[in-house]
Parts: sequence; structure tokens; C-alpha cells
Amino acid sequence: MVQFIGTVRVSPSLAIFALRGRQFSFQSSLLSLSRNGLSLFSLSKNGFSPFKRILRACFISNASGNADAQYQSEIIFMGTGTSEGIPRLSCLTNPLKKCPVCSKAVEPGNKNRRLNTSLLIRYSGPGERRNILIDAGKFFYHSALQWFPAFGLRTIDAVIITHSHADAIGVKAIQVMKKTHYYLVDTSVLTPGAAVSELQFNIIHEEPFVACDLKFTPLPVWHGLGYRSLGFRFGNICYISDVSDIPEQTYLLLKDCEILILDALRPDRSSSTHFGLPRALDEVRKIQPKRTLFTGMMHLMDHEKVNVYLSKLLETEGLDVQLSYDGLRIPVTL
Ligand SMILES: [Zn+2]
Ligand SMILES: [Zn+2]
Repeated sequence: MVQFIGTVRVSPSLAIFALRGRQFSFQSSLLSLSRNGLSLFSLSKNGFSPFKRILRACFISNASGNADAQYQSEIIFMGTGTSEGIPRLSCLTNPLKKCPVCSKAVEPGNKNRRLNTSLLIRYSGPGERRNILIDAGKFFYHSALQWFPAFGLRTIDAVIITHSHADAIGVKAIQVMKKTHYYLVDTSVLTPGAAVSELQFNIIHEEPFVACDLKFTPLPVWHGLGYRSLGFRFGNICYISDVSDIPEQTYLLLKDCEILILDALRPDRSSSTHFGLPRALDEVRKIQPKRTLFTGMMHLMDHEKVNVYLSKLLETEGLDVQLSYDGLRIPVTL
């Protein structure tokens, strides 16, 4: 049974959550649901009153729940780009130079079109199907607008945050969120009648935790000098979206990885906060996953060209590596 707890406002800088009574966490702060619940995206005006929309959502959710068992779990890349998004506005408006990747990325459906890095796990566990989102950055609304209708998604049951940058959550840490999104942290300040989600904030202490019956193991990494970010392992999938260095202890948690999703910012070199492609490939050689998908690519990464190069590594080294893209859906076993 799904019980409604509140409607959710969509904002470009904050994720939209539907919350159910399971604990989940993220590094700097952790959201979890205080009660069973379901919320709706305000993606279109459909003429229903909020109350009717709620009933309609409950009906749909329950109706689909019976069929959940037949579904396989899957991951969907909600975004695979850098903080600024691709195409970059500065490239499109430059009268002196045409950026080859950004000019391609303008075309709808082009795989160079990338929004903030984010992954949705559609988990068909022992109960009903659950949607667990990793990161919800400043462009999340636009990602959801594109991929939620496309994949028949309507709810988010848990949100896990890798780090405090704006392309991951839009706030710095729980202390900052208490200021910037105070109305979510302390709903007692709300104007009577105002509708927001009921969220419970928890802290991840780099220990394994469970979200929606799925176990997550944090993968602590460096994301710039002295700044910690978390990757996450769930099943044999390892997701590390923001990394400049991997501590030795974290490699132990990456053993027998089947699908590695790894940061690769640019084709030529690493930055102070992100792996570039050469370093990312070195890590793949060290970690030895069965399959690797890179994410977090900037506008210098041409999807087709880089993937042609990466395909050759399968022939020469046996490395199964490719760039991911927004909207990529992969069936997985969890
Ligand atoms: Zn560009
Ligand atoms: Zn970051």
C-alpha cells in the first residue's frame, strides 16, 4: 500500500522526491522518508485537483505493484555530463569559434547532449519496484522531464547524494541545507497549507547502509585535494562519478566489480578534481571490472569519436569500456 504524504514542488536546484518509510543516506546529509508516501511531479497541468491527483497516483502505483515481480532491475543514466551541462551556452554563443561537440549536442537525441551526472536504480527487490536516485543536481528537473515520461517513471523512493557540489545536490552540506532549504529541514516554519515533502535527513558515515531493501556500500574517494566524495557499490555495480584519486582501502571494496561507472572528464588529462580519460583507463586496468561506462564528460568528449577509440581497446586489451549517455538504460541483476 502506498499512502500519500505530500506533494512536491519542482525546482531546478533541488531534486523532487517521493518518500517511503525506508532509511537511506548520503555523505553530507541524508534524506529518508518519515512515513510511507508517494508524491507526484508537477510536470503538466492535467486538470485534476491535488487530491484527485494523489488518488490517481496511488491507484497507478498499486496497480503496477502486482506486476513488479516480473521486472528485472535496471539502471538508467539520468545525466552524464559536467556541472555546466552540454551544450555549453558559451560555446553556442561564441561568434569566433564553432565548438564541434556543443553544436552537435544542440540536436535533440544527440548523445553529446548531457546534463548533470545522476543515476537512477530501478530495483525490483523482494517488495514492489523501487526507484533510487543517486544525485539530484541543478538540472535534475530537466533530466526528469525527459526521462521520467520516456521510461514510465513516476516516483522516487530514495535519494543518495555523493557529495555537496551543486551538480550533485545543489546545497553544500546539511548545515548549509538548513539555511538554503530550511523549509525542507524544518517543516514547522511552513505557511499553513503549504505543501512540501516530509524528508528525514541522515548522515552517511562511510559504512554500508540499506535503502529500499538494497544494500549500498560507500566507496570513499578524493574529489580534489582534501575533499571527500562517495561512490557507491550496490550488488556488483560500482558507481564513482566524482573522483581525482582513489584511496588504497577503497580498491578492496571494488573487487569483483561487474559494471564500473567511472568519472572521465576530458580526453587528454585529469583536472585537480576529476579523472581524465587516460587516468580513468589506468584505473579500469587496475580494478578490472567486466564492463566500464564512463560518466561526467565535458564538451571536449565527442561521444562517437571517443567510443570508436575505446572500442579498439576491447580488441587490443580486452577492455570493455564505453562512454555512457543520458537516457542509457541497462538491465542489471541486483
Ligand atoms: Zn563546447
Ligand atoms: Zn563535484
